Parts: sequence; C-alpha cells; structure tokens
Amino acid sequence: MKKIGPFFIAMILIQMGCSSMRNHDHYSVSDHFDGTHFFNPWGNNVSKSLWDVLKWRFSTTPGPWPTQVLNSAKPQLLPKGAKGSVHITYVGHATALIQDGVFSILTDPQWSDRASPIQFLGPKRIRQPGVELSKIDRVDLVLISHNHYDHMDLPTLRELDQLFHPLFVVPLGNAHILQSEGITNVKELDWWSTEGIVQLVPVQHWSTRSIMDRNQALWGGYVITISGKRIFFAGDTGYGPHFKMIHQRLGSVDLSLLPIGAYEPRWFMRDQHMNPEDAVKAHLDLGSQKSFAIHFETFRLTDESFSDPREFLKKALINAHLSEKDFFAPEVGETLILNNE
Ligand code: ZN
Ligand code: ZN
Repeated sequence: MKKIGPFFIAMILIQMGCSSMRNHDHYSVSDHFDGTHFFNPWGNNVSKSLWDVLKWRFSTTPGPWPTQVLNSAKPQLLPKGAKGSVHITYVGHATALIQDGVFSILTDPQWSDRASPIQFLGPKRIRQPGVELSKIDRVDLVLISHNHYDHMDLPTLRELDQLFHPLFVVPLGNAHILQSEGITNVKELDWWSTEGIVQLVPVQHWSTRSIMDRNQALWGGYVITISGKRIFFAGDTGYGPHFKMIHQRLGSVDLSLLPIGAYEPRWFMRDQHMNPEDAVKAHLDLGSQKSFAIHFETFRLTDESFSDPREFLKKALINAHLSEKDFFAPEVGETLILNNE
C-alpha cells in the first residue's frame, strides 16, 4: 500500500476547506486580472487538477527526510538603533527576519507546527523555527507573498498582531482573510505598486485556500529598500520571464531571497516552484549581487529528499561559475549581514 504523504493530505484539506467570499469586485481589469481571476500574463499558469494530484501521489516515491532536525545556528538579531548593517536571519521555510536599526520586517511568518488549515493534519515542521518569537523585540512590517498555508499562517499572524501591531502588506484580494481574523492594519498592493519601503512585483505562481477561491487573490514578491540596500523576496515562484522584467524595470538588487525547495516531480511542480538550477538562473536574471536560499529543509511538501536542494544548489553554482559567496544557503537560524560600505 502506497504511503500517503503530507502534501497530498494538505491538498485534500484545501479541497475540503470552507469557501471564501469573492471580494474583488472593485479591482480593475488588468494584464493579470480578468475581472474574476488573477493569472500570470506571460503564460505558465498552474492548471493542475485533483486528478493530477492523485496521479502524482500514486506514481512516484518521495526521497528520504529526517523526522526531526535540531537547529545549531545562533541568530544574530540587531537591536533597534544599531547602525551600519542589515541583518537577514533565516527563521525557516519562507520566513526571514530582515532588520536594520530602524525597521524590523518579517516575510511570510510561519511559527506553527503545521502548514495546514488544521493543526492535527498536514505538513508538519521537522525542526523548530530558527528564532523564538519571544526573542524578537519588534516587528514593524509583515510581508505576505500569497495565501497558501505554508506562507499565510493565520495563527502566527494573529500572534504578531497582538504582540507588535505591525503593518501587514498583502497582494490584492487577500486583505479580507486577515480582516476576518480581526487584523485591521492591512494594506493591499497590486503588482508594481508601493507602500513605504516596499514594492510588490510579479512572480509566477497561483493562489488558493479552499475549493472555491482558486486564483481569486493575487500573489507576488517584494522589493524592499532598507539602509540603502535593495532586497528582493520572491515568496513562491516558478522560473519565468518576470525576473528579467523586474531587473529591467527596477535595476539590480543587492540581495535576493530565492526559493530552492519543493520542486519534484518537475511535470507537476515546474510552473509553481523553482529547482536550485532555476534559482541560479533567476539570480543571474535579476542582476542580484548576492542571493539567499529559502523554502527548504523545514516542511516536507514534495518528492525531493531533504538534502537535495542544498546539494543541487552547489552543483548549479559550479555549472554557472558561481560560488557559495554569490548564493548562500543558510542554516535555519543563521544570519547574513550586509554591511553598508
Ligand atoms: Zn505557494
Ligand atoms: Zn510555498
């Protein structure tokens, strides 16, 4: 009997989830919104059915993952008022804490045990978050890339709202999900629009939280300008022409946070998730000074083994004549420091 994996269970849960009300009648039709649904205007839209999910689960054997990993890295958090550097700490999955002496920013915060609509089924974290929430003294801004459960974790968002009352920035069509949880300090952005130090930019992905809401909310990445540094956070994305578009429109960035995990099997995952080779191509397309790997070694979502993303990133860097200095794969809890020259 074939073992049913956690991602399969999560997909079924999503299909079973409660439907959300359409909430976008006031959005204007655009090159990525047809009046009811959002889409990737250059194509490569994710169009997998429940049948494809079943075909995937019963046709492949997932690589090995440990059931538990202990974190050993020591985060180097930056106190308020400290000058001269930007600290980027990998909390795990797509969660990073980005700090200078003024701002403290979280991307796709996820501190829950599972990436799932319910807390007793679905993908379970194999390690603790790299930073305890109680060790963080401030959060001014929370950036959410899209509404999949591994990126928009409502229990964590509620807790952050209570602790810090930060501004939550979301792509179009997502504010009502946070507002239904009592979170009021929410700002929706369309692609290329700006709020303070952040700009939402296109990535190649899709959205759903239930059987009724597929692609009714937008997805995106963010370009953040902090202490004179420009940092691109990709969230979830397949490889596509959008990286070159971002570079052409906004210029080079100092650092890109790029996903390198959840990519096998390719026939199913290619349109929505990059593999390490794609991530290296994205790093080059973006003209990124340096990149920082995310979305790996935390939740087992797909078929590649635990060690594959890190190993294949090393190979892809060698093939592209780059090094680990150019594209850094952090340990969970590890901090990268960008110094202001
Ligand atoms: Zn996603
Ligand atoms: Zn994801």
